[in-house]
Amino acid sequence: MKINYTEPDHKVNQGAPEGLSGVLLNVALIALTVFLFIFVLRYTISLAAPHIPFSVELKLRGIFSTFVSGYTLKDSAEVEDYLENLVGDVKRNFASEVPDVSATALCIKEENAFALPGAQIVITSGLINELDSEEELLFVLSHEVGHIVHRDNMKGLGEMLLQVGLAVVLGPFLPQETGSVFSNTNIWTSRSFTRAQEYKADDFGVMVLAKEVGSVAASLSVFDKFNKMEEKMGIRKGDLAQSLSATHPHSLDRSKRVKLGEFKNLLTEIQRNSASFSNFKQAVKEKCALQLAKD
Ligand SMILES: [Zn+2]
Repeated sequence: MKINYTEPDHKVNQGAPEGLSGVLLNVALIALTVFLFIFVLRYTISLAAPHIPFSVELKLRGIFSTFVSGYTLKDSAEVEDYLENLVGDVKRNFASEVPDVSATALCIKEENAFALPGAQIVITSGLINELDSEEELLFVLSHEVGHIVHRDNMKGLGEMLLQVGLAVVLGPFLPQETGSVFSNTNIWTSRSFTRAQEYKADDFGVMVLAKEVGSVAASLSVFDKFNKMEEKMGIRKGDLAQSLSATHPHSLDRSKRVKLGEFKNLLTEIQRNSASFSNFKQAVKEKCALQLAKD
């Protein structure tokens, strides 16, 4: 018997060939779906994070401090005491709902400060070296206490878990070309959240300055320094592409808010405890130089 073999029709399961507009429409639909999906998840996290009791958050301190323990400035009681005193005052007077806040100096040249899960603030020696007064340091630390009070560090932790989860769950199913769409929608959805968080943390820091110092001028001088750092990194205000992808508001926008804000009448500069701040700054500089030389 003769078998008439015919090639299977490869076109059976294919739709009409797609033009460029079809491909673009698909990408746009995927982007919109991912955008909405991530937005809803983010919103849920931001609603849920503030309900996690601080006692639970404090249990995370040990885990997250290990991430930075390699950089921690060691064996410096005077630096630790100085930071703990400043942060302790802020906690007692403005954040009594938080059972404990810790503050640690890291020997890192890049200027930065952030709040980790576990109500712990870290500030780099690079940033300390740029600051000129205890008031400026108080503003930076209070801004971070603001993040802890508003539970932004816990929202950040939820974000991190969300990103890892999405990458694991969705990664294998998404076509490769949607990778950049995915990461862009990710930045764009987080952008509005983190900018609002930064402004709220600024408000907290400015409020602390107004009540503890009687002047909010130090917030402006800190933003001025941030502005110079941004200029060095090539970040310009008014650059649309940079502005769309930046998660932080520009420092000029941040200082404008203070100049127009609730405490705009408290802009006269007040300096206090300059000698103890100078000693603290010098100790961080010398001890970090020693520590970095050893590593
Ligand atoms: Zn911040």
